[in-house]
Amino acid sequence: MTPGPFELLVGTKNRKKAAEIRRLLTGLSVTVLDLSGFDELPDVAEEGLTFEENAVAKAAGFARMTGLATIADDSGLEVDALGGRPGVYSARFAGENADDEANNRLLLKMLANTPAVERTARFRCVIALATPEESVFTCEGSVEGVITTEPRGTGGFGYDPLFYLAQCSATFGELPGEVKDRFSHRARALGRFKRLFAEFLAARR
Ligand code: IMP
Repeated sequence: MTPGPFELLVGTKNRKKAAEIRRLLTGLSVTVLDLSGFDELPDVAEEGLTFEENAVAKAAGFARMTGLATIADDSGLEVDALGGRPGVYSARFAGENADDEANNRLLLKMLANTPAVERTARFRCVIALATPEESVFTCEGSVEGVITTEPRGTGGFGYDPLFYLAQCSATFGELPGEVKDRFSHRARALGRFKRLFAEFLAARR
């Protein structure tokens, strides 16, 4: 009997991030699942000091809880004028249960006296693959930008309305998803992921 299609779980409770990952995995010959069918699962604690530690913890945690091979992303914004903050604390910059708006407000406040040339920043993303038995690999992507002085656009999520991409003369918040997907840290990490994942699948046959 031929085995069914390989099942890959996207291990994130952030629906907008899950939708981006799903979109970026298009073309892989696997069945992509998300956590919408696993409402009762607890979240995996993000206690690491690096994106890599947290990505591996999330992929391995959800893989063990579900018994499925799992891809997870840990990502965030590094602002040069803030010494790389918020970094791994991007989701909870303004507090444990802070929403995107509160995080964006705090960021703008902290940069209120920072001139345009010093508002450089980057998004970074580490993607991890784990099976219930082991952590398989990680890969990374980043994109350079500048923090605006006010939100622009309503697309994407998180800090997208504040992240200005010179190549597009627009913030990620102003760009359609398909355009963000050509430049984003997540797209770059997932491009590498797809190549490594093909080798992982070939080795299992
Ligand atoms: P994580 O779930 O701990 O990886 O949180 C990532 C956080 O970083 C998000 O909640 C956002 O605040 C920020 N972030 C990561 N990727 C993006 C992106 O593509 N656009 C905007 N903000 C992002």
